[in-house]
Amino acid sequence: MIPFFHRATQIVPDCQTYPKHKTALALMIFYHKWQEYFGDDDYKVKELLNKVMVKWGRHLRTIEARGFNLHGEPITKATIQGIVETDTIIWVWQAYGKISETSLMHELVHISLKASIGTTDPDHEGHVYEGWTPAHTRMIEEAKDMLRAFNI
Ligand SMILES: [Zn+2]
Repeated sequence: MIPFFHRATQIVPDCQTYPKHKTALALMIFYHKWQEYFGDDDYKVKELLNKVMVKWGRHLRTIEARGFNLHGEPITKATIQGIVETDTIIWVWQAYGKISETSLMHELVHISLKASIGTTDPDHEGHVYEGWTPAHTRMIEEAKDMLRAFNI
């Protein structure tokens, strides 16, 4: 269990990975920024965060799949730092000790888009799928800066 978002959970590969109060703070910062940028009048995103599961991974993952990079260009094989597994489960590489340097915020945007508008928008700012805008990319950067300010 993660404090504040009571039904949120995380899976950690070992006890070096993030203590739950840090993950909770990261979720709170994400939600603070999301509301500031996009609102959440129907509480869809809040509901999602209340039941999200974050699976932290010790190593980067290589996948063979069809996807898109940040510019909307197709890729076939990639080393990834994070991925959406289901509507409520994200896998995130733990990086080197700071949540701010992981793709947690990025993956949270994907599943929050899914919860609020029905698509994860896998091509980001590309135009095959709608949803992800430059504001979402900006929001992630601001949320990460806030994490850095808390040194987490
Ligand atoms: Zn993505």
